[in-house]
Amino acid sequence: MTSNAPLILTLDYHGVPHRWVTWQQACFYYAKNLVAWTLGEAAFTYYGGVSRATGSRSSITTQSIIAIRGKAMAMKGFSQVPPLSNRELFRRDRHICGYCGGEFGFLRLTRDHITPVSRGGRDHWMNVVAACRHCNGMKRNRTPQEAGLELLYTPYVPNKAEYLILTNRKILSDQMEFLVQHVSSHSRVLKLAGAAA
Ligand SMILES: [Zn+2]
Repeated sequence: MTSNAPLILTLDYHGVPHRWVTWQQACFYYAKNLVAWTLGEAAFTYYGGVSRATGSRSSITTQSIIAIRGKAMAMKGFSQVPPLSNRELFRRDRHICGYCGGEFGFLRLTRDHITPVSRGGRDHWMNVVAACRHCNGMKRNRTPQEAGLELLYTPYVPNKAEYLILTNRKILSDQMEFLVQHVSSHSRVLKLAGAAA
């Protein structure tokens, strides 16, 4: 039950998407009276122990999207560039090699640095694409131009909402509806959103 439970989308007080939390964390926010307002159609009720005093069972109901009050949330920096990891990078690039256009599973893809790190290229969203092992091997320590390869798509930094879409494979439809409003209309992530809907 726990592992299959959907994650709850938290927003800051102003409605900016923040992060996914487990239902336990969501219940903690409710219990601490930190939920400022809620959105979303889905509601989940979780039951605690039976109170010895009243004999009734405690329960907390959480909406699928909750806005959290307090400075603690704001301090964590919403405008930060999301951390770069292969899982999210490959999802950003829809598991398509940036050089040959083939679609590959996770294990057959690599993080290609468009300008190689050894040549001063950064390990950053803007300088990386998913590349299959074959293409990466051909490219070696060269730029695409030097290797005679053409980059099929341009890299970009996912914004917060895009990153949240990339990191959760079980997004509820009301959560997805909310997140796509924060994604630019040309984002490739929208194709993931379409596939999930
Ligand atoms: Zn390839």
